[in-house]
Amino acid sequence: MKVGVLGAGTMGHGIAQVTAMAGHDVTLRDIEQEFVENGIESIEANLQGGVERDKVSEAEKDAALDRISGTTDLEAAVGDADLVVEAVPEKMEIKRETFEDVEAFASDDAIIASNTSSLSLTEIASALDDPTRAIGLHFFNPVHIMKLVEIVIPEQADRETVDFAAEFVEGIDKVGVEVNDSPGFASSRLGVALGVEAIRMVQEGVASPRDIDTAMELGYNHPMGPIELGDVVGLDVRLGILEHLREELGERFRPPQILRQKVRAGKLGKKTGEGFYVWEDGEIVGVSGESRTARQSGSEGVSGEMEDENR
Ligand code: NAD
Repeated sequence: MKVGVLGAGTMGHGIAQVTAMAGHDVTLRDIEQEFVENGIESIEANLQGGVERDKVSEAEKDAALDRISGTTDLEAAVGDADLVVEAVPEKMEIKRETFEDVEAFASDDAIIASNTSSLSLTEIASALDDPTRAIGLHFFNPVHIMKLVEIVIPEQADRETVDFAAEFVEGIDKVGVEVNDSPGFASSRLGVALGVEAIRMVQEGVASPRDIDTAMELGYNHPMGPIELGDVVGLDVRLGILEHLREELGERFRPPQILRQKVRAGKLGKKTGEGFYVWEDGEIVGVSGESRTARQSGSEGVSGEMEDENR
């Protein structure tokens, strides 16, 4: 199959990589040659990492790279594609424009997919003259590691489109779940619901971030607790999603004050070195608001944090 991937950033390069690894021919398109090259370099680096960890053979790496070409020319990327997957920035106008442009150059029976993580697929699809061929393919970061793809079904999609998407997802060795287009799809809505309750519990002093995380890690077998996950994703990103879900689904998604304060203070989590935890070199070294901390040194309260945040 020929697949056009639009956007060579964090998600686009990963989608191109797993698609080529599965034997499809991929054309990766970005708006600047430099971005295309960066995307292809990232794929090379990922595959080289795979070779070093014995996950990918040298021959598989070379074959996958041979199947990927880069371009800035939209027509070259989508003209003969059976499937186009866009991973351009998360803005409704850009998504809709991209869909319109793709439809102008793609063949009539090409399926057009969006990797949006939060926007309405139904609204994106309505940019097409033939919206029955639009679908959401919500990959997770990093794409070459994460198994899940949410197949998001817009109001207008027909069953053939959904089946095509499901078959594609299975063929690239991912696990697809079908979700009707609705705010937060399945994964964000549930993940964020757990995360927001965990943050409320910190705010109310029910338990420390560590103890909440440990409860979910050891009691429910989550690989990472909800507070730590929020720090990893970015508290600004979490806040943005919560505001969107609150608007769409109601007060149960209202962002807690402590989260707003963290974001105002620039404590965005792992990426800024502090969120609910303190981070150094990508590792947790303490709990925010505590003076004496190390993740290994046992459970500690969050009273200092509560006083700070409630001022
Ligand atoms: P990114 O900023 O890393 O990459 C976006 C790329 O798109 C950039 O290289 C940009 O130059 C390029 N671009 C802009 N306009 C374009 C156009 N018209 N045609 C082709 N390329 C264009 O963003 P990202 O993190 O890869 O996110 C892309 C999409 O994936 C968004 O919809 C996002 O919500 C979704 N997503 C992101 C994640 C994540 O963890 N980063 C996870 C799931 C889904």
